[in-house]
Amino acid sequence: MIIVPKTRGFICTTAHPDGCAAHVQEQIDYVRSSPRSAYLPKNVLVIGASTGYGLASRIVPAFSAGASTLGVFFEKPPTERKTASAGWYNSAAFEAAAVADGLYARSINGDAFSVEIKQRAISEISASMGPIDCVVYSLASPRRTDPQTGEVYRSCLKPIGESYRQKNINTDKAEVDEVVIEPASEEDIDATVKVMGGEDWELWMDALLEAGLLADGATSVAYSYIGPELTWPIYRDGTIGRAKNHLEQSCARIRGKLESKGGRAFVSVNKAVVTQASSAIPVVPLYISILFKKMKEEGLHEDCIEQIQRMFTNHLHGDAHLDASGRIRIDDLEMREDIQTHVAGAWEQITTGNLRELSDFDGYQKNFLKLFGFGLAGVDYGTECDPMRSVDLVE
Ligand code: NAD
Repeated sequence: MIIVPKTRGFICTTAHPDGCAAHVQEQIDYVRSSPRSAYLPKNVLVIGASTGYGLASRIVPAFSAGASTLGVFFEKPPTERKTASAGWYNSAAFEAAAVADGLYARSINGDAFSVEIKQRAISEISASMGPIDCVVYSLASPRRTDPQTGEVYRSCLKPIGESYRQKNINTDKAEVDEVVIEPASEEDIDATVKVMGGEDWELWMDALLEAGLLADGATSVAYSYIGPELTWPIYRDGTIGRAKNHLEQSCARIRGKLESKGGRAFVSVNKAVVTQASSAIPVVPLYISILFKKMKEEGLHEDCIEQIQRMFTNHLHGDAHLDASGRIRIDDLEMREDIQTHVAGAWEQITTGNLRELSDFDGYQKNFLKLFGFGLAGVDYGTECDPMRSVDLVE
């Protein structure tokens, strides 16, 4: 079939296997051409491993440290008539490159929140890998079924206390408009904490500990975001911010459980990048478009792979350089005062008329399409492409 992007808002229902492979290869090439990470884990479990920050967190240890990696994700396989989701193709490409380098790389496709998928991971680690020395928790999910009660919780992106009115971008029309979001109910807050808080991360760590499959000195990291004040009502002070606070509380508990074995747990605050998860957050795509323009001009632009390479190199080895709240900060360049002052000024002025002058909206859109394997150099999008690609799944 000829595969073209079919997008609406922050959804793209098609993905290009060769384009996704080219995107993964770009990231592998970046890691290979970077100085070798000082932190060299041997056995890595990445939960949320198929796209965005999780995929980068699988690529860096594999291609910098030669690590074995088990990836857990929830992706749609292809059929003869329909493409797979991008994360499926990314994982197929990652595995092919890892195996070509003689590395162990297998994957589990299913609901990471479930007991069954945790058990499947435990069995595979026990049979094929041996104790895990690095666990990356990088899930971004709209819902979670509680493994004990079966109750389904849906996360939401809402302010707390009062409604939030802010500039926004209609990405389909390239128009700056306004969004008004009504405040969350207590139920919304609790549900978002259930889905995006740290409960499930802790359950994964408990399961590994109980099975005796965490190596002495193991490190675990999960990701958070803080960002600029203009997004705080919808992010840091909103429902998702409550979930991230919970993630930090879970981190402290996990750290306590690992300490006796010399292990460590961190929350890393990462910069805003274009991913399937971030493109769904109101206001954020317009902020990212302005931010990218300035960071590119200053030679500071980073995507997931540069961020995670920097985290492994500068923070996970030895002294982790934590902020006053005990978090790793790789959002340091985004949050630099000169960058934020510039973004705040441009934010005040931006309209549909000056969108391309004040922001890198075209770059944002290119980045978004790239997530699905479109717009990659060297890929012939005009020729027939077989959508079937296989992933080495642990069943
Ligand atoms: P993403 O959408 O690119 O990736 C989400 C991953 O989770 C995918 O691998 C997906 O398959 C997996 N997943 C979702 N539901 C699942 C389930 N039920 N079972 C198994 N796997 C499941 O997201 P991302 O932006 O890379 O976000 C990852 C983490 O990074 C999140 O905690 C997010 O808050 C954080 N973060 C993101 C940004 C950003 O700008 N994107 C910035 C800072 C921190």
